[in-house]
Amino acid sequence: MDTKDRMINPPPLIPPPCNENRALVDNVHPPGWVNPAPAPCYNLVVIGGGTAGLVCAAGAAGLGAKVALIEHHLLGGDCLNYGCVPSKGIIRAGRAIHEARHCSRFGITGTDGLAIDFGLAMKRMREIRAEISPHDSARRFRDELGVDVFFGAGRFSGPDSVEVEGLRLRFRKAAVCTGARAVAPAIPGLDQAGFLTNETVFSLTELPKRLAVIGGGPIGCELAQTFARLGSRVTVIEHMGHLLSREDRDAAEIVQQAMIRDGVDLCLNAGTINVARQGDGKIIGIEKNGERFELTVDEILVGIGRAPNLAGLDLEAAGIRYDPKLGVEVNERLRTSNPRVFAAGDVCSPFKFTHSADIQARILIANALFAGRQSTSSLTIPWCTYTDPEVARVGMDEQAAAARGIGITTLTVPLTDVDRALLDGEAEGFARVHLKKGSDTIIGATIVARHAGEMINELTFAMTNGLGLSAIGRTIHPYPTQAEAIKKLADAYNRTRLTPLVKKVLGAWLTWQRNRL
Ligand SMILES: Cc1cc2nc3c(=O)[nH]c(=O)nc-3n(C[C@H](O)[C@H](O)[C@H](O)COP(=O)(O)OP(=O)(O)OC[C@H]3O[C@@H](n4cnc5c(N)ncnc54)[C@H](O)[C@@H]3O)c2cc1C
Repeated sequence: MDTKDRMINPPPLIPPPCNENRALVDNVHPPGWVNPAPAPCYNLVVIGGGTAGLVCAAGAAGLGAKVALIEHHLLGGDCLNYGCVPSKGIIRAGRAIHEARHCSRFGITGTDGLAIDFGLAMKRMREIRAEISPHDSARRFRDELGVDVFFGAGRFSGPDSVEVEGLRLRFRKAAVCTGARAVAPAIPGLDQAGFLTNETVFSLTELPKRLAVIGGGPIGCELAQTFARLGSRVTVIEHMGHLLSREDRDAAEIVQQAMIRDGVDLCLNAGTINVARQGDGKIIGIEKNGERFELTVDEILVGIGRAPNLAGLDLEAAGIRYDPKLGVEVNERLRTSNPRVFAAGDVCSPFKFTHSADIQARILIANALFAGRQSTSSLTIPWCTYTDPEVARVGMDEQAAAARGIGITTLTVPLTDVDRALLDGEAEGFARVHLKKGSDTIIGATIVARHAGEMINELTFAMTNGLGLSAIGRTIHPYPTQAEAIKKLADAYNRTRLTPLVKKVLGAWLTWQRNRL
């Protein structure tokens, strides 16, 4: 291939080259885009066009600010291109084939020989991703929102200026929203053998027959279960003794058992010592309980954590302090050590979720542009791991409460107590709430359920608005719904208020009523 050919067919920004990805890129990094001439000074220059950056840019421009948005790869960032959207797209495919395989209990027959076409499942995901992308499109930001969109790597050139593609943008305020990326473990031979991360796994067009997933956290578990359901022989290698080690042990155990039933091999308390390529396969040297053995796979997916994107930003030039592992240092108002510069999203937050990037961006706009004093420390941020069943969390768990010296009462309702969960065949899981001792104040909750991510919202709403569990108890829930589990937590709380003394008084009253005639 000569140079001219290469120029005519540049490598796709997001493989595979197909109509769906062309439609996506046409929105989020349009070919032939011409950067505008910079304005003399911007109210806000945003570096990074993921969730945090897009919300900052759209919100600030909507309020009349002159805004520049700089993105060096694809607008939409991880969430649209390599994270939430594609993962949930293929999780749905995995769930569909799983349900089809297990539908005989509903009396459905004739399902022998069911198969899933991996290529079609991935195509569906790419179609939906492309369908969602106009919302994040460069043209929308330029033409509808009036934002100056620059493609290229942003770099600070001073305390009040950023450079991109040889252009200098001066700012009153700037927002660092450059996100995070997968951490690559330092395992000898891994680089040479090659591995997948969230940036490449969604570009697969063929199902790896054997897949090793290094890391049993949320991303590792979601994808391990999904690939197993789609037909891969999956092994999760995790150095802790349990998957989802940040969740309540019994919550994680339910997911762990579900994954084992889905055919995922778990290699816990295990370390990866080295990787070597052999033919088309990859041999992973593993150490577990002092013993060494080898595992041969076709692909290795790495999901051991996320590191902030700081490289090339030249934060020093703007006097912005940072930690290479934790990211840009910000105070609770999201201000960096440079009073003109703020940060939001994965680049500075321990809560690496789209919804926390979104709320931080809204806080950033108020604080940076309007001298607001909004704080991130009062936020109630829920999260969910989209395994089957899902695990959703909000607020403190037992350990966090104990560490702060807060006495708690914990109430748990198993889903086997919830009619709709039984009827749906989804009774695996529970709803749990931690209350401040002696009150109905909710300080944390965990839900394990098929749709735990939907169910946690009621508890998050109550916590955010200072409503106790009794308020949920007074709320009528339609029967039968799985969210009745939350109502039942409130009923359980009310029962705790029925002390022996209250019970005795009520009993005496009723006896008196009976005997009056
Ligand atoms: C597999 C996976 C699944 C996930 N699932 C969920 C989920 O279900 N729910 C959820 O809430 N969260 C999920 N997340 C997390 C979520 O994607 C992130 O929290 C979210 O995208 C953070 O947004 P952000 O704007 O901070 O960063 P990003 O989305 O990473 O955006 C940062 C942007 O900055 C750009 N950039 C970086 N450096 C520069 C530079 N120097 N100049 C210009 N541009 C630059 C990058 O190209 C990128 O576009 C998932 C993540 C992964 C990896």
